Amino acid sequence: MTERSSLSVVRCDYADVSGSRAVHLTFDDGPNPICTPAVLDVLAQHRVQATFFVIGTYAIEHPELIRRAVGEGHEVANHTMTHPDLSRCGLAELNDEVLSANEAIRLVCPQALPRHMRAPYGKWTQEVLATTASAGLTALHWSVDPRDWSRPGVDTIVNSVLASVRPGAIVLLHDGYPPAEEGLGTDTTLRDQTTMALAVLIPALQRRGFAIRPLPQLH
Ligand SMILES: [Zn+2]
Repeated sequence: MTERSSLSVVRCDYADVSGSRAVHLTFDDGPNPICTPAVLDVLAQHRVQATFFVIGTYAIEHPELIRRAVGEGHEVANHTMTHPDLSRCGLAELNDEVLSANEAIRLVCPQALPRHMRAPYGKWTQEVLATTASAGLTALHWSVDPRDWSRPGVDTIVNSVLASVRPGAIVLLHDGYPPAEEGLGTDTTLRDQTTMALAVLIPALQRRGFAIRPLPQLH
C-alpha cells in the first residue's frame, strides 16, 4: 500500500464523533526542557488540555515533564522511541520503536496510558498501521499544519490555523525537535514562536466558538 492510500485509514480529525465545534491541539517531538514547560504554562493559563506525542528517549531524559503533563490532564501519546522514518524500518525495528516508546512512557509515569500513535514525518505504511493497532494504539494524523517548526512568524502560525480550522480539527504543533536536528546550532531548533502563537491562538479559537478539547476516548 502506498503512503497516499494508507492515509485514507489514518484518522485526520474527530469531526464524526464530536458533534460540536471541538478543536484538538497536538504537540510533537517533545518533551523538551525549554519548550515543553512554556507550552504547558500557556495551556494551564487557559485551562485547556492537549495531546503530546513524545519521543521515548526524551521521555526518559525528562520524566518530570511527562509527569507534569499527565498531572495537568494532558494525554501523553506515542511518537516512537527515536523518531526514525518508519517507512524505512524493518519489521523488528518498527515494532521496537513503537513498543519501546510505550514502555518508556509507562516507566516514567505509570498513570500515563498512551492511546494514540503518530508516525514521525506522517510516514504511514500498512506495516506501521498494523504495528500501531497491535500495540493497542489508534493511528492519528492531523488536519491543520501551520508548519510552526519552520518559524514562519507568530502571526503566520496563528492565521494559518484560523484559515483552515474546522469542527473536529486536529492541529499539529511542536514543543521540541527530533534527535536528527540535535546539535545543528541554529535557530531551527527553537520553538518560541509556537508558544507565543499558542497564547494568541487559544483565545482566538474560543472567540470563534471553538472548544479546545482533549481527544475523544474511543477505547
Ligand atoms: Zn515528529
